[in-house]
Amino acid sequence: MRTRSRSRGVSHMSVSADWRNPGPAPTEGPLVDTLGRVAGDLRISVIDKCNLRCTYCMPAEGLPWLGRDDILTVDEIDRLARLFHRLGVREFKITGGEPTVRRELPEIVRRICSLGPDLDVSMTTNGLLLNRLAEPLYAAGLRRVTVSCDSLLRHRYQEMTRRDALERMRAGLAAARVAGFDPVKINCVVIRGTNDDEAVDFARLAREHGYDVRFIEYMPLDAEQSWERGKVVPADESMAAVAAAYPLEPVAAEGPQPASVFRFADGAPGSIGFIPSVTRPFCASCNRMRVTSEGQFRVCLFALEEHDLRAALRSDADDAELERLVREALWHKWPGHKINHPDFVRPARSMSMIGG
Ligand code: SAM
Ligand code: SF4
Repeated sequence: MRTRSRSRGVSHMSVSADWRNPGPAPTEGPLVDTLGRVAGDLRISVIDKCNLRCTYCMPAEGLPWLGRDDILTVDEIDRLARLFHRLGVREFKITGGEPTVRRELPEIVRRICSLGPDLDVSMTTNGLLLNRLAEPLYAAGLRRVTVSCDSLLRHRYQEMTRRDALERMRAGLAAARVAGFDPVKINCVVIRGTNDDEAVDFARLAREHGYDVRFIEYMPLDAEQSWERGKVVPADESMAAVAAAYPLEPVAAEGPQPASVFRFADGAPGSIGFIPSVTRPFCASCNRMRVTSEGQFRVCLFALEEHDLRAALRSDADDAELERLVREALWHKWPGHKINHPDFVRPARSMSMIGG
């Protein structure tokens, strides 16, 4: 049976300070910001490179890749994971770029999974290499995987990812199932005029294979800056399309979480979820933090500031100093991004560089 971390949601502590001028961060207790949000979820990007070029994420020619010495070593990732675990983090997501193109991925997974039995460790991948890696990753301790797929039509998948790789992705999905991954989730970014006619097809796929499909709103984090509000398909619209074909019943959340999740009313396997990151941001209950592949700490996906953990790691900072850096950064976490506000400023880096 799958076990899930109890720290999944956000517990708010009663903290009151102004996030712009908050005074010193707490030196002990849970990782908390001035709004009382307790951070318990860390997304670790293990590489910036990718074997796809999704139009909503990367340019066709790729990006200036980091050098081998720029990205965190396995030992550095291990050290940070241990630190965050000691500070109360129980949810770890391994991401990228494309995590499966990092040769040491199984070792990274093994080290994170061995931090304790109470962890919820998952990975987000485009699935192309899962055919080969599903088994070693399962053996390393990983149990949950999310595969990104935005179209079930070969020509459209190719158009959206700039690679003719739908069959490889499908083989990867199947390999994850065979290896024993549970759940197998599918992330689908819905873009107006591109793939907004496929919601029901994805729901059918979920029912046929017991997958958990999550529809995600398109966010202004594409490298080519071609995001427009008019291309965002509201989660409610995707939900209405699925519900018209397959009646849905809400699944009670295990705590505050961005996705509204539904099961099929007729008892079919699989589930459907909707993540309204743009139309209904979940900043008020956000418990997430990120470390980029070169060791920059980010307290918000849309943060304009990063905090250099790699420099600290490489200048022989002890754990107390690393902890101080993390607590200070989190203490300054803003109430939320301003996608829906005229003051919104895009972060300089796009999704694959941040670690989605
Ligand atoms: N390469 C892996 C993958 O595609 O799953 C992991 C990294 S990718 C950056 C993580 C997630 O971010 C994917 O599910 C992807 O669809 C999503 N993503 C990328 N750009 C996005 C955007 N502009 N808006 C919404 N989601 C995006
Ligand atoms: Fe690569 Fe993932 Fe970005 Fe697509 S979304 S280009 S698979 S990092």
